[in-house]
Amino acid sequence: MKDEFSPCYVELSKSSLQKNISFLKNYVGEDVVFSSVIKGNAYGHGIDYFVPLAEECGIRHFSVFSSDEARKACRASTHEDTHVMIMGMIRNDVIAWAIEHDVSFFIFELDRLKAAAEEAKRIGKPARVHLHLETGMNRLGLDSDQFGETAQLIKDHSEYLQIDGLCTHYAGAESVGNYVRIQEQIDRFEEYTSWFEEQGIDAENYHTACSASTLNYPETIMDMVRIGIAQYGFWPNRETYMNFVKKYPEINAKHEDPLERVISWKSEVMSTKRVPAGEFIGYGNTYLTSRNQQIATVPIGYSHGFGRNLTNVGIVLINGERAPVAGLVNMNLLTVDITDISNVQKGDEVVIIGKQGDQEMTVASFSEMRNFMNYEVLVQIPSTLPRYIV
Ligand SMILES: *Cc1c(COP(=O)(O)O)cnc(C)c1O
Repeated sequence: MKDEFSPCYVELSKSSLQKNISFLKNYVGEDVVFSSVIKGNAYGHGIDYFVPLAEECGIRHFSVFSSDEARKACRASTHEDTHVMIMGMIRNDVIAWAIEHDVSFFIFELDRLKAAAEEAKRIGKPARVHLHLETGMNRLGLDSDQFGETAQLIKDHSEYLQIDGLCTHYAGAESVGNYVRIQEQIDRFEEYTSWFEEQGIDAENYHTACSASTLNYPETIMDMVRIGIAQYGFWPNRETYMNFVKKYPEINAKHEDPLERVISWKSEVMSTKRVPAGEFIGYGNTYLTSRNQQIATVPIGYSHGFGRNLTNVGIVLINGERAPVAGLVNMNLLTVDITDISNVQKGDEVVIIGKQGDQEMTVASFSEMRNFMNYEVLVQIPSTLPRYIV
């Protein structure tokens, strides 16, 4: 049932998600754990909707940034054997919650490791932790001079610290410009994990790979991958897509993207109007009609994430045709030129991102218009919009 009250909505395609996950799982290997990264409200797709959908597509492992996202994911999950992992922010006083809910979390500070051991002991259940090793990103991660103390703490509290993972994160695996830095990180990770092994500390999973390193550096796949952007149907950037199709000519031969966009963003024509030649449209004087024009108003604006910088630049799809934004983007609505589109009626579907007929508005085209990355456009789709699985 559609939410009749909402001016616009988001659709999530189950078949596209299934296709992306199958493609990626096939590529990384069936025995590799596929952790679905759902930080940033599942890259704008909506955690509440995306988690059960991904579970239907066989996902049982999710990665989030923070404890509030972990709690959301736990509530949205419909499978007992689903696991949630926090890669970033969790306050020490929330660690007890994580232990009780079997949520694992990254350790990049001794302070957090100590707190985890203490809380686990108090509760009488081990904390599931991933040691995030600093290999060269220099953002978060245990430094090598802290490894000794880390290993000692783990040995002293072996009953209460379960080492789910040894992991790291790469500083820009999507771009060849970072090649040397990534190679150094790969080497250091190997050296460091050997050291932990020598100390008798073995992890359940060794994981380092995001979408870009999974696709560009297959040696980083190990026994778990943390896939964000690619599962939603986007290549991390064009360079990664180009490298990939060059490496796998059979994919290139089909001239068909193996990844499909999961998200669409839609609204409808609210009203239409005829405007004579020589008139300004909307606030101010940014758009002057050059002939008798037909204008449609769409109930979407910058409050919904359709940026003001798309004024006179943005494009939406109506009746399978491209309708350019005419005039300033308002807070709650925009005006588009439909003069050359025949028979547009109030109530007709408007596509902001997604397909209509033969036309597609990609997130990439949307990002280029706004000089943004895919990631940034996606997360700005408001969490308050209703989402429908199609
Ligand atoms: C965001 C993130 C990922 C996933 O990145 P994608 O490029 O979206 O695949 C993996 N690991 C960490 C630590 C992250 O923060």
